[in-house]
Order: sequence, then structure tokens, then C-alpha cells
Amino acid sequence: MSKADIYCIGNQKGGVGKTTTTENLGIGMAREGKKVLLVDLDPQASLSIALGNDRPDNLDITVTDVMKKVIEAEEIPKGYGILHHREGIDLLPANIELAGMEASLVNVMSRESILKEYLSSVRKEYDAILIDCMPSLGMLTVNALTAADGIIIPMQPQFLSAKGLEQLLSTVNKVKRQLNPKLRIEGILLTMVDGRTNHTREVSELVRSVYGKQIKVFDAEIPRSVRVTETPAEGTSIFAHDPKGKAAEGYRKLTGEVMRSAERRRQNQLAESR
Ligand code: ADP
Ligand code: MG
Repeated sequence: MSKADIYCIGNQKGGVGKTTTTENLGIGMAREGKKVLLVDLDPQASLSIALGNDRPDNLDITVTDVMKKVIEAEEIPKGYGILHHREGIDLLPANIELAGMEASLVNVMSRESILKEYLSSVRKEYDAILIDCMPSLGMLTVNALTAADGIIIPMQPQFLSAKGLEQLLSTVNKVKRQLNPKLRIEGILLTMVDGRTNHTREVSELVRSVYGKQIKVFDAEIPRSVRVTETPAEGTSIFAHDPKGKAAEGYRKLTGEVMRSAERRRQNQLAESR
């Protein structure tokens, strides 16, 4: 029986490619035969919209209802709220109601672990679960970090912000100490990389020199491509929209890297348990 690896796609800065990465990494994995669930944890619902739900406010059930059921300790029916996308992934969508949920969590017991409790119950049905975070380090993002095994940090190399990264790492470390000791930083993903200058190497070296061995930068980088901006209107991934393009190539490479490192971890765990 499989037990999904859970990834949080997070960065408190907006517009860095979190949603695009959640969608295309998730569908990339599905194309490799994995069973994948994407969770939209942003009240803006960009992921839900990008996957073809033009009017998320009309959805009957969203992640907010699922979290409410956890809080009320109500049974969650199998498949509750889950939508199936034609490219082979499942989606737990969001809409603006999630903003109210974030505010009401303040008064809830174990408020950091609501999403984790839900995901623990569906984890055995998937190989991977990807959580698309909102651009903040508030209680919803803390829920994602508490539920996750690893965080993937999309970042535009031209806007590398030491202060922003510092704040994010401090939140990650706090969650790690207090709520989720196994949380690791999967890596930084450089997105919307322009031109032929070797950003990746420069930024990699910079990040590594500042943060030592703490953070990996993925070899894969995602070039800026107008084809990416066209996909939300179509409700498809870059693999369906422009399979031969450079952005699809980048996401294919990222998918391979993430899957290989998951496989390595599994082998190591097996070896240790022998
Ligand atoms: P976030 O979720 O971090 O706010 P998005 O994934 O929504 O970021 O991306 C922000 C905007 O940039 C969107 O309009 C998206 O279509 C666009 N975008 C994302 N990745 C690329 C890329 N590789 N090339 C060009 N545009 C991109
Ligand atoms: Mg987003």
C-alpha cells in the first residue's frame, strides 16, 4: 500500500510560480504513473481556476468544508470534495471561503494540525500530495508545513530576497521544532528564468554560500515562457498545452529530480529498517 509523500509548495512572496509549479509538478508525476492529489490552500483559488474551475465560488465542497469537518470531528465521506481532472490528477479545490477559515482557526484546538489530520486519512490512497500555499506565512501555510514531509520553494532568481528567504526559513524551522520534526527543505526552484545568462549557477552559489548545506537548489530551472501564461485559460498543464516547449522541459526535469530523491529516501529507509 502506498503512502504519499506530501510536499508544500510555499513562498510568502506572490507571483513566484507556486501555483504553476504545483500544477505542473503534480501532473508531471501523474504522467509518470503516480497517483497524485493537489490541494489548493489559497483563498484566491488560482490552482482551482487553472485546472478548469472557472467559478470556484460556485463549488459545492472545497477544502474549507473538509477542514470544518475535521474541526467538528465529523466523519469525512470517501472522496468528499475531490474533483478529478482529465490529465489524471485529483484536486481538492478552494475558494474565497478559505479566508474565513484562516481567521476562525485562531480559536480552534490543535489549529496547526487540521490539514494534517485530514491528509493522514487520505494519504494511503496516493503516491504524492502537493499543497499550493497562499502568499503568506499565516495559519494556513503553517497547516501545510505541519502536514508536509518537504517544502519546495519556487523563486524568481532576479528577485532573490535574503530577508524573504530568512523569514521563510525561520517559519520552517519553528514548525520543525514544535510541530513537525521530519519536515525538510526539498529545494529551491528557480522559476521564470530569463534569457541565457546562467542565473541558476549564480543564484545556487549565492544561496549555498549564505545557507551552507541547508538548502539545495534544484538542477532543473523553469524558463520564462509566454506559453505558461496561456495554460490557465485552457484548464490544462504545460504538458498538454506545449509539450515540446522549454517550460514543459523544465517541469519534466523537476519531476524527475523530485521523484528520484523520493525513491532514494525510500531505499535508505528500507536499508535502515533491515
Ligand atoms: P504564485 O502562485 O506564486 O502567485 P503563479 O504560479 O500564479 O505564482 O505565477 C504568477 C504568474 O506568472 C502567473 O500569471 C503565471 O501564469 C506566470 N508564470 C508562472 N510561471 C511562468 C513561467 N515559467 N513563464 C512565464 N510566466 C509564468
Ligand atoms: Mg498561487
